Amino acid sequence: MNQTSAGKFDIREEIRLIPKTMVAVAVLVFFAMEYLLVAYAFRHDPHAPPLPLQLLIATSGGAVLAMFMLLVGYVNRDAKRRRMNYVLWTFLVLLIPTGIGYIIYFVVRQPIWSPCPQCGATVNPTFNYCPKCKFNLHPACPQCHRTIEAGTTFCPYCSADLKGRV
Ligand SMILES: [Zn+2]
Ligand SMILES: [Zn+2]
Repeated sequence: MNQTSAGKFDIREEIRLIPKTMVAVAVLVFFAMEYLLVAYAFRHDPHAPPLPLQLLIATSGGAVLAMFMLLVGYVNRDAKRRRMNYVLWTFLVLLIPTGIGYIIYFVVRQPIWSPCPQCGATVNPTFNYCPKCKFNLHPACPQCHRTIEAGTTFCPYCSADLKGRV
């Protein structure tokens, strides 16, 4: 039927959410970090560690920064599709250091809105009825009162005949 992917977690879909420009920025940041540390900072430091260690520090530092940039891009798009204040959240995760901004974001973020199976309007999954067409988003079996899917012919819990009733 007209089931949406709301509630299901697909990591590839989540990664695809990150804007391409942010991926480019992350790659750039990664190599900039390598270059700045190895070719500049360590070269002018008389107590610099040996080259393999320099590369290790630069690579891990660059990877952490790149990851950070990717997450900023993710939060920006994720907050947008959840109808949250995405500008505010993007700034919050950018400005609150050491990833605390992300933790707060993932705790308080709203559920993903999905299309109404009847009229296609974007609705909050916590709604019981579509605010546009009054479609029952969480129909219950009239006999056993358990939540069932719209368009169910027989109740999967008590076998009540629901043809045309939900
Ligand atoms: Zn609707
Ligand atoms: Zn039932």
